[in-house]
Amino acid sequence: MKHTEGSWEREGRSIVVEGRGIICTCPLPLNRGVFDVEENLNLIAAAPELLDALKNYRIADHRSCVIGDDLDHRCTTCKIADAALAKAEGRQ
Ligand SMILES: [Zn+2]
Repeated sequence: MKHTEGSWEREGRSIVVEGRGIICTCPLPLNRGVFDVEENLNLIAAAPELLDALKNYRIADHRSCVIGDDLDHRCTTCKIADAALAKAEGRQ
């Protein structure tokens, strides 16, 4: 599974990738959306960078925390990171 390549940018209430199209559009509260539209758009726009940062952290900084080890030698931070990565990659 791979998300849409390119820089995810805010354009009004949408997240777009130039040359690719619209990733998503957040509805306003009056259209069954929520009041946190700006914050949600900022978070979604940053998602690819956050994913890369988390992968780098997990691989580079905590490679000694073994994934799938029967004894589970992962630190608590790596367990949280692995759960987030599984969610982002549709593995949960
Ligand atoms: Zn760790």
